[in-house]
Parts: sequence; C-alpha cells; structure tokens
Amino acid sequence: MRTGQEEKIDKTGGMASLDGQSRQMVAELKRRGRYRYMRPLDGASSTRVEIDGHEYILLSSNNYLGLSTHPEVVDAAVLAVKKFGAGAGASRLVSGHNRLVQELEEEIADWKGKDRALVFPSGYSVNAGVISALTGVGDFVLSDQMNHASLIDACRLSKAETHVYEHSNPLDIIRKIQKTGGTGSILIVTDGIFSMDGDIAPLREIVSIKKKCGAHMAVDDAHGTGIIGENGSGVAGFCGVADDVDILIGTLSKAVGSQGGFVAAGSDVIERLINTCRPFIFSTGIAPACAASALAAIRIIRRDFEDLSSNLTRNARLMRAGLREIGFDVPADSGIPIIPLILGGDEAALRFSEKLFGKGVFAPAIRPPSVPEGTSRIRISVMATHTEEDIDRALEAFRAAGRATGTI
Ligand code: PMP
Repeated sequence: MRTGQEEKIDKTGGMASLDGQSRQMVAELKRRGRYRYMRPLDGASSTRVEIDGHEYILLSSNNYLGLSTHPEVVDAAVLAVKKFGAGAGASRLVSGHNRLVQELEEEIADWKGKDRALVFPSGYSVNAGVISALTGVGDFVLSDQMNHASLIDACRLSKAETHVYEHSNPLDIIRKIQKTGGTGSILIVTDGIFSMDGDIAPLREIVSIKKKCGAHMAVDDAHGTGIIGENGSGVAGFCGVADDVDILIGTLSKAVGSQGGFVAAGSDVIERLINTCRPFIFSTGIAPACAASALAAIRIIRRDFEDLSSNLTRNARLMRAGLREIGFDVPADSGIPIIPLILGGDEAALRFSEKLFGKGVFAPAIRPPSVPEGTSRIRISVMATHTEEDIDRALEAFRAAGRATGTI
C-alpha cells in the first residue's frame, strides 16, 4: 500500500524543500493579489506616521482614541518598567503577578459592571481560550458568520459542535438552536461591533433569544470598548444588556491603546477560567508596561469620555460625509470609526491603497480571508485625535485615488 507521503514524492518528482514549497505558496499569493507585507514605522503609531522619511496620515489604526501616545499613558508605562521590569517572567499561576494587574482587573470589572475580570496577553488569546474552556463535548456554540478570526479559531478549538448563523440574523439563531437537539448547553458568540464593517450586533434580540432558550452569551467587544456606552464601557452597556451578557470579552490593544485582552464575567466563571483556560494557564502574564498603560488609559477614558467620544464621533461623521460627497458608497451618518470602502476584487483594493499611499495616506487593502470573497476594501478607521486638516487631506487623497482607479 502506498502512503500519502510516497504519492507526494511521485507527483513532485522529489519532495520539495520547505523553502521551495513556501516560495511557491507566496508566489501564488502574489499572483492572486493576496500577498501581505508589513511597513516599518519610524516613530510612534499615531495620526501621522513616518515611513522611509515621508509622513503619512494613518487611517488604519485601532488606536481609536489616540491613547497609545497620551502622556499620562506613556508615563505610566515608563514608571511600571522601572518598578516592575520589562517582562512578567512566567505564567501568573506560576510566579504571581504585580499589583498593577490586579488593579487593572478590578478597574475593568467595575467599568464593565461584572463581578471580576481576567487579563490575558492578547485579545486573540482570550477568545481562543475562553470559548473552548466554557464549552465541551455535547455542547453547542452558535457563532455569527462575520465574527472575528479569533472567534472562528476559538470555535475550531472547542470540542462543542459549532453552528454558524447568518450575520446578525436573530431568526437564523432560532433556526440553528432548533437544530441543536440534545441536552448540551448553548453558547451564542458574537462580535459587539463587527471589525470590518463597523455595524453593531443586535444584542437586545440575541439576549431575548438566549433567555427564552436558556442559552448563554459571549460578546467580543474589541471594537466597542472605549468607544460607546456609558463612559466607554462598550456595546453591551450601549444596548442596555450588560447584565444579561454572561461573558464580556475585549482587548486592551485598540481604544485602550496598550496591549492585552480581558474577559469580564461572574466570579465563578472567572475561577473556572483561571483553572481551565489553557491560553491563560500556559502563557506568560501581561507585561508590566502594558498593564500600567492600560490601567492609565481606562481611567482617562472613564474620566474624559465625553470629550474623547465627541471628537471621535465628529471625525467619523466628517469622514463618512466627505467620502459620500466624493461619490463613494460608504454607510452614512454613524459615529463608529470603522468605515468600510468596499472595492470588490483584491487587485482593485490593492491598487486603490497604493494610490492612497502615493498621496500620503496609509490605509492598506484588506482582502480575504479577513473579509469575504469579492468584498476587498479599504477599512478606514479614524481616530479622535485626527485633526480636521488630516481629514480634509485624506479626503483629497481618496478623491485622487478614486479618479485614478476609475472608482468614482
Ligand atoms: N476580536 C476582534 C473583533 C478583533 O478585531 C481583534 C483584533 N483585530 C481581536 C479580537 C484580537 O485582539 P488582539 O489584537 O488584542 O489580540
């Protein structure tokens, strides 16, 4: 009997080296307009960034409130490094955590209106860990079709059966629940604000379904935390359902301007996670500078939310209105900073983003698998700290790129 390995050797006329395979794969990505690469910035990631000696308006950062360079946030990070060192040293269960992490968790729990919070080194690891820790064989996870990759991967990691429901469609959630059968528990998981379109999940409707069906619910509020809701507490508060959402997940890496992730929930759930959530148990704790800067930033958000939010909303509205006036079909009149400019094909999005870059705007093309096939786009994200001049200059660049690519 022939093994799969032998067939591979036969077909290729000799096993390709890993380098050879990789070169082929990357060449194929380039051919399909799917090649990804990174640009090094010379300086802080703020509203304007320096790349190879040129200045660009940055329109693709999730540092929505500009807090990553806020002086109080930076000072907190510097002090923390001096006092607690650069790294956490080990998993928190193995070597403890500094007091700042505890304070940060208390602050998050209070902000989110939950008993307790648990901080992880990234938002991705929270999603990856929490869903699989809370579900097992015989259980069901219902996941929105447009959920973030970290939730998709979380469903793959979970031993529960996953059912993907149509985007933000409560009727389809009910249909999928009716299909589950069995006695396992049901966990509905959704992004709060969807990362690529900036639309808000129908949380009230989902809560009402979960109550009727005895299901549980987890919301990944990576993009709503610090942006909406009372004092920036997020999308669940904004929709008036914070008490009804069992698991509130978020990241410290976007509006909070630092790095890390968190889950806020009841005390028993947090105890369970501390004891069973593998990415929490087997990963080094959040770095002191990240914990300190996140804590400082959350305190700033809670203190100054009105100003921060009114600047962000103003900029989001200005950008949306300006783009529509130029002739781009972007969703109107929302204060959410994520603005999808959908161009369709991968090449079209790439060409557009290159034209923008040539005009001094940095906003890369977002292509599958980050977005569905045929919806490649520029995902514009505005910041509270962009000036009106930044927005005007950016709009001129969009007009020029639109003309150069025949999009408008
Ligand atoms: N959830 C969503 C909806 C996200 O957009 C992201 C980041 N793109 C994450 C989770 C992961 O968060 P982090 O970057 O902190 O790992």
